[in-house]
Amino acid sequence: MNKLNILTYPDKFLSRPTQPLDNIDGKVQDMIDKMALAMYDAPGVGLAAIQVGWDKSLLIYDVSPRDEGRFLNVLINPKIITKEGEIVSESEGCLSVPDFRADVKRAASITVEGHDRDGNPLKIDAEGILAIVLQHEIDHLNGTLFIEHISTLKRQMYKRRIKKQLREK
Ligand code: ZN
Repeated sequence: MNKLNILTYPDKFLSRPTQPLDNIDGKVQDMIDKMALAMYDAPGVGLAAIQVGWDKSLLIYDVSPRDEGRFLNVLINPKIITKEGEIVSESEGCLSVPDFRADVKRAASITVEGHDRDGNPLKIDAEGILAIVLQHEIDHLNGTLFIEHISTLKRQMYKRRIKKQLREK
């Protein structure tokens, strides 16, 4: 099984909106397994298919504490049904935005509908870290990176830093 590459900003593919996934076949299962390897390897708590170059509405996450073992969750064609309240996600990061963290305003609790990897319908009431991770990953499926939610000034600073790094490569 060859390893997946995680795309990073400013790769334009990351800003592409994804397509719904209507056939959960063996190829999809294989992709989910590869994505899980890439996510745990990084390590990260969430990964959207678009981050590994696949523009489908699929994401995986695992917010279980490290010492309690792994619990991989798969969410296909997710939609946020309700959003309530507001919390600050402190020093949020992203595998596609390396070496950068920032506080991001997120809804405190959300309800998400979608399907699991077997195609069964799912409804998730999430708050806290799970609500933050799901909003972050669902943003990816809409072509949005978390740096779009921060102040223009902070975003410009990050973009300048990346441009400089690219020039020095
Ligand atoms: Zn991300």
